Amino acid sequence: MPSERLYLFDTTLRDGAQTNGVDFTLADKLVIARMLDDIGIDYVEAGYPGANPTDTNFFAEKRPLRTCVTAFGMTRRPGRSVSNDPGLVALLDAQADAICFVAKAWDYHVRVALETTEDEMLASIRDSVRAAKAKGREVLLDCEHFFDGYKAKPAYALASAKAAYDEGARWVVLCDTNGGTLPHEVEKIVGEVCKAIPGDHVGIHAHNDTEQAVANSFAAVRAGARQIQGTLNGLGERCGNANLVSIIPTLKLKAEFSQHFDIGVPDDKLQTLAHVSHTLDEMLNRAPDRHAPYVGESAFATKAGIHASAIMKEPATYEHVAPETVGNRRKLLVSDQSGRSNVLAELERIGLVVDKDDPRVIRLLDEVKDREAIGYAYEAADASFELLARRMLGKVPHYFEVEKFDVNVEQRVNAKGERVTVSQAVVKIKVGDDILISVSEGIGPVNALDLALRKDLGKYQSFITGLDLTDYRVRILNAGTEAVTRVLIESTDESGEHWTTIGVSPNIIDASFQALMDSIIYKLVKSGAPA
Ligand SMILES: [Zn+2]
Repeated sequence: MPSERLYLFDTTLRDGAQTNGVDFTLADKLVIARMLDDIGIDYVEAGYPGANPTDTNFFAEKRPLRTCVTAFGMTRRPGRSVSNDPGLVALLDAQADAICFVAKAWDYHVRVALETTEDEMLASIRDSVRAAKAKGREVLLDCEHFFDGYKAKPAYALASAKAAYDEGARWVVLCDTNGGTLPHEVEKIVGEVCKAIPGDHVGIHAHNDTEQAVANSFAAVRAGARQIQGTLNGLGERCGNANLVSIIPTLKLKAEFSQHFDIGVPDDKLQTLAHVSHTLDEMLNRAPDRHAPYVGESAFATKAGIHASAIMKEPATYEHVAPETVGNRRKLLVSDQSGRSNVLAELERIGLVVDKDDPRVIRLLDEVKDREAIGYAYEAADASFELLARRMLGKVPHYFEVEKFDVNVEQRVNAKGERVTVSQAVVKIKVGDDILISVSEGIGPVNALDLALRKDLGKYQSFITGLDLTDYRVRILNAGTEAVTRVLIESTDESGEHWTTIGVSPNIIDASFQALMDSIIYKLVKSGAPA
C-alpha cells in the first residue's frame, strides 16, 4: 500500500490561461474547476484576482468545491506596507482557501526587474505570508526562476524559499520559470533544497521548453519534493507547463511511484482522464492530439498484422499499460500492412458480427489495400472505414443521392471598394422522389459546399442538426505519377462523439465532397435514420 501522500496542484486556469489563443470565460473556468475537483486534484489555482474581471469574479464568492481553491498574486510591493498595497489587499480578500504568492528567487531579477534589494524582497515574502496566514489562508510561495537563481546565487535563492517556510507557508514551490533546466539538474538542486526545507513542504513547477517538464517533475519527486504543479494537456505559455494528463497515469500506474505515493486520484477517476483531456480540447475548439501519451487516439494503436494477432491474444505484449485504465481504447489500425486479424478486430469493435472465414472479410481487406494504394488512409479515418465495411456487408441504407453540385469562387470589388473573394455552392439532391436544390455562400468553396449539402436533406434533416465539423486537413500526396489531394474531416455531434472521414481525388473540392458525404452518412447511420 502506498504510504506517502504526493499532492497535485493544477494551474490550468492561471498559468494555462497564458496559452496563446486561450481565453477562458468564467463559465469555462467553473466547468474546468469542477472537472479537476471531480478527479481528485488537491489544489486548483483558479486565477489572479484583480488582474482581470473574470478572475476577480471567480473569487468574488466561495465556490463549493472539495479541492483547495487557490488564488494567485504577488507578495507586497517593495517599499510599501501590506495594508498600503491594494493588489495584496484584494488578494487577501479573495474568496479562496489558499493563496499562492509569487516572488523572485533570482537575485538578478530582484535587482533588474524589481529594482530593490534582496533584504527587501525577503521582508516582502515574510510580511505577505504572515498577512495571508492571519486571514486564515493556507499559503504557498512560488519561487520564480528558482533554478536559474540557484545556479547564480544559491544562498539568496534558498533564503527566499526559507523565508516563506519559516514564516509558516505550507509549500514552497520551486519554479523552472524559463523551462530550460534539465532533469539531472532539477534532481540535484531539489535534493539540496530538501536538506534545508522538508520535502513534504516542497513543490515543483516545471515548464516544457526542453520538452522535459514531465521528466523534471518526476526528478523533483525523486529528490524529495511532494507537490507537483501542472496543467491539463500541458497548457501554458510558450511550450506549456508540465502535463498533468501524463503525470497522473505515470504516478498511478508505474510501480516506482504507485508503490510509494497516494495522489488522491481514485482508479475510477483515472478512467475518466481521456474524457477530461478531450473535453478541455473541445472547450478550446482544438482537435485533440492523437499522439498524446495515454489519452491520444494513437496511444494504443498498432499497425502491423502480426502485432495485431499477438495483441488480441495477449495485450501486454505491445502495451505498457492497459488502455482502459486511463479511459482510452486499443486500436488496431486497418492499413495496407494489416492482416485479417486487424480487420476482424475492427469489425468486432464496430459491432459487426462476421464469421472469421467469411469471404467478405478478405474482400474488405483487398478493398482497403487497393484504396490505400491510391492515397486513402483508413487508420486516420475510422468512420470512413466503418462505412466501407458496412457497405460491403450490405448495411448502409441508400438515403439520398447527389445528382450534381456546382461550386464557384468569385473575386470582385464590393460596394466599399474592397477586393473580396466570395464562394457559392449549389447542390441538387434526390431524396426518395423529391428533388431538393440548396444554395449557400461560404468563407471558402469547401465551406460553401458543406453548408449547401447540409442545408436541406428533406426527411433526414432532423438527424443531422447536431452535426458539426471540427477539423479539416489537407495533404497533397504523390500517388503514382500524379499528385492527389487527401482530405480528412473530423466531425462531432450532440453526443460528443468524434469521427473522421476521408476523401481522395486529384481535385481538392471532389476530395472534400467525398469526406463531407461520408461524415453525413456516418451520422445518419449512427442516428439510426430509416432508409
Ligand atoms: Zn509558470
